Amino acid sequence: MRVILFGAPGSGKGTQVTLLANFLGVRKISLGDILREAVKKDSSLGQEVKIHMERGALVSDELVSRVIEENIDDKGFLLDGYPRNLDQAKKLEEILSKKNSDIDRVIYLDIDEQTIVDRLSQRRICGSCGANYHLVSLPSEKEGVCDACGKELVQRKDDNPEVIKKRWSVFVNEANKILEFYENKNKLVRIDGRGDIKEIFERIKKEL
Ligand code: AMP
Repeated sequence: MRVILFGAPGSGKGTQVTLLANFLGVRKISLGDILREAVKKDSSLGQEVKIHMERGALVSDELVSRVIEENIDDKGFLLDGYPRNLDQAKKLEEILSKKNSDIDRVIYLDIDEQTIVDRLSQRRICGSCGANYHLVSLPSEKEGVCDACGKELVQRKDDNPEVIKKRWSVFVNEANKILEFYENKNKLVRIDGRGDIKEIFERIKKEL
């Protein structure tokens, strides 16, 4: 199955994407993770995207589409962080059609701005394995330490209220066009993104 998980930054995608990829038995392709890894390694891709990412701005369509094309195949996958605008959605269709393939479902995690600001400013991630935590709703067992790999938890540079608001406005600007695009293709499933992790996961499973 080829599925896109779509939602604003902080809609819970990062958490649900891991659960769902395991459930479906498919590979998770998280564009944000791929880019962050490139920044960490200081590769030429990382150097190109770093400034944009720290400001909460989008990286150029051409660049991210190239990254997706290099990482995608016609087998099952769960895609997170791409497409983020209508041009990217069309580009994805083009990339997949070259492989005689297409997207089966687009799951939209629907959530409001204030919930997102609350969630993201308290989010912590593992600097090593990328696991997600939340200071209140999903704390690690030992403060500041990853349960999965024992490395240090950090706050993403773009998880501060000012940058979060900027990321939200970048998101809503394009989201409606993407939703309409997939709705017209009968591929869109809207999921209420409020509530706890298990509850939301159950809603998604029910729709699939
Ligand atoms: P995320 O982890 O998905 O919130 O992505 C973090 C940052 O990576 C974004 O704020 C952008 O700077 C960049 N990025 C991720 N996905 C895309 C995309 N599809 N198009 C352009 N930039 C992206």
